[in-house]
Amino acid sequence: MRVLRYWSVSRAGAMQRVYQALERLLIQIDPLLRKIGYQRLEAPFAAVERLLKGWFFDCRMCGHCVLQSTGMSCPMNCPKQLRNGPCGGVRADGSCELDPAMRCVWVEAVRGAAHMPGGERIQVIQAPLDHSLAGRSAWLRELRLRTAA
Ligand code: SF4
Repeated sequence: MRVLRYWSVSRAGAMQRVYQALERLLIQIDPLLRKIGYQRLEAPFAAVERLLKGWFFDCRMCGHCVLQSTGMSCPMNCPKQLRNGPCGGVRADGSCELDPAMRCVWVEAVRGAAHMPGGERIQVIQAPLDHSLAGRSAWLRELRLRTAA
């Protein structure tokens, strides 16, 4: 829902704090999650993520979340799905050249980043997306990367 997506970007700083609190919680309970097994947790995690992030960010479940580097504006909502933007086609009013009713997700990303500590991460070039991750939980992926021995 675009209205809620824009609202989330307006509160990017608060959203980032929620994200970071969730990360800390997941890292704390990681020993328990390992005992249960990441494989078993994949489906329920993906379902919760799809619901919550779908609601607040119009998440497309790319599996490699970069929200904290893009002002809490999901780049997968770009009709061109640019992981690094904006393209050269942003309209003068900040809307998308392909969908004039939509604000450019990268204009939104810059707006959100201005509200976030570390918002300058938006300048970092994102790696190409690994499409094999589509539909999988980005939270679990991130947790696995962070807690890898
Ligand atoms: S970057 Fe990927 S995981 Fe994050 S909100 Fe967008 S589609 Fe979802």
